[in-house]
Amino acid sequence: MSNRTQHPDWVRDLKPYVPGKPVEELERELGIEGAIKLASNENPLGPSPKAIAAAAELVTRSNLYPDAGNYYLKEALSTRYGVNSDQIMVGNGSNELLTLLVRAFTTTNCHAVISEGAFIAYTIVLNAAGVSTTKVPMRPAWTHDLEAMAAACTEDTKLLFVANPNNPTGTYNGKDDVIKLLRDVPPHVLVVLDEAYFEYAWASDYPDGVELLNERENLVVMRTFSKSYGLAGLRVGYGIGPAYVAELVQRVREPFSVNIVAQTAALGALEDHEFLAKSVALNFREMKRLVPALNSMGFDTFETQGNFLLVKAPGGGAALYKSLLHMGVIIRPLVPYGILDHVRVSIGLPHENDRFLEAMKSLV
Ligand code: PMP
Repeated sequence: MSNRTQHPDWVRDLKPYVPGKPVEELERELGIEGAIKLASNENPLGPSPKAIAAAAELVTRSNLYPDAGNYYLKEALSTRYGVNSDQIMVGNGSNELLTLLVRAFTTTNCHAVISEGAFIAYTIVLNAAGVSTTKVPMRPAWTHDLEAMAAACTEDTKLLFVANPNNPTGTYNGKDDVIKLLRDVPPHVLVVLDEAYFEYAWASDYPDGVELLNERENLVVMRTFSKSYGLAGLRVGYGIGPAYVAELVQRVREPFSVNIVAQTAALGALEDHEFLAKSVALNFREMKRLVPALNSMGFDTFETQGNFLLVKAPGGGAALYKSLLHMGVIIRPLVPYGILDHVRVSIGLPHENDRFLEAMKSLV
């Protein structure tokens, strides 16, 4: 007889997140040097210099607990977006906020709606809480079928997550489509519009979720400092929504989850307009260069609204990942997404993208 303490079936059945190995470890194992990582949609320019300058001194105050209320960051975000600070929730990355929304709003009797091919964290946080989840198939061009998502809501639905732009596809839903969703979804459902790549999105009809907050009471818009601000390692994300949601999230969160360095770094980053513009411009320029270069080699890919590309891998994503790995280029296979014939490649610095293109050319 097993002595293991009983745990819920849905926890036993969870597929754990498989972290990539550190670059140094991979280099040692494969006997290569100078590997580049284009696998995690990080900012290749590094962190915002203003964020680093602001945060450096805070390391010397690591004996102190951080401000559990994230006071200054909420104030700064409230000024930036013209919302009340009690509408803002700050998390240890926006990923923590996803978990907290699930914790605050669901029990195992509840239901959630997401899209197939959407950011994998939605599946993970909902499965971890035992919430039954409908995954709505995407439209043919990798966009979320928002009409079908609205139609999939039931009386038990508490949460509906939409990534716009979506990771790992880089696709987006336009303003009319999103407004229709906000109107069509039954009022009792909390819609979470995840705009982690907001700053990179360039399509003229890409909607700014914050401007849509008046369209619907139960709407939270989420953003992050991990991407265009370059602070993925410090873990800060935020959500803007109704004050009652922020207050519920505050109840279920661990008070000090956003550390003292991260809070100050985020404040610095928010003022670093130059770095943000540089990051976004580099990404756009390189995206415009990578897409035709890959297409001309015969690889199917398309222009993205994020800082990564979805690339078709004729021999399968896992095989392409392995081939590139041996050439010191680390990309992301999409097996956990069930997308087996594509890979995701983060857009790097020009010389990194050149390395990636050279490696791809050698496979043609
Ligand atoms: N949403 C989307 C769509 C993402 O791709 C990511 C990061 N990969 C996140 C949220 C979470 O970002 P973070 O926790 O670093 O803020």
